[in-house]
Amino acid sequence: MPKHPKTDRTLVIIKPDGVQRSLIGEILGRFEKVGLKIVGMKMAVPTPSHVEKHYNLDPNWKRLVGEKAIQSYIKKGVKPPSDDPLKVGAQVIERLKKYFVSGPVVVIAIEGAHAVPMVRKIVGGTEPLSSDVGTIRGDFVLDSYVMADTDNRAIRNLIHASGSETDAEKELKHWFKKDELISYKLISEQILYDVNMDGLLE
Ligand code: ADP
Ligand code: MG
Repeated sequence: MPKHPKTDRTLVIIKPDGVQRSLIGEILGRFEKVGLKIVGMKMAVPTPSHVEKHYNLDPNWKRLVGEKAIQSYIKKGVKPPSDDPLKVGAQVIERLKKYFVSGPVVVIAIEGAHAVPMVRKIVGGTEPLSSDVGTIRGDFVLDSYVMADTDNRAIRNLIHASGSETDAEKELKHWFKKDELISYKLISEQILYDVNMDGLLE
């Protein structure tokens, strides 16, 4: 039998700017309110090599992040800093290493129906300038590709969320030991997932 979508898991990291902006509660609340379950959580100051490994878990990430940045410049009618996606990608990883180690982050494992795409939807697009209103990145921060490039730094967008099921699996292993993730029931799951919703009336 295929795995039920309600057992899907994903990784979220509240980046140092999210912690400094006192948004931990607000961010966790958004995931809780939609019905997702927190199954692991810790505060840490990552090392640069842990951050580099995290982004290299997906062998295509460096190229994809470069392509995304170049496309965003073209769409705005601005000349990209380089035409080579790999060059842009390599630059981004250096900037990310500095960003992630600047202060504590909160690492969260989240479980629930379609956890990966559901969390990405709530988080919003990479660039806060163009991410949708109603998303975490759209509502709480104002950074952009142009600002990040002008100041030679990573885009400050408060939060990381796994981009695919495959990434989520690798990233959860990268940040959590097996016994740091807890399997348990939430009372609300009866309303979210029970087939018949019976047992409510006395
Ligand atoms: P997402 O976090 O939305 O999945 P990516 O995986 O493409 O985005 O990139 C990882 C992170 O790298 C982004 O969240 C952002 O902080 C930073 N970043 C991405 N592209 C750039 C860029 N061109 N310049 C600076 N920082 C960037
Ligand atoms: Mg990503």
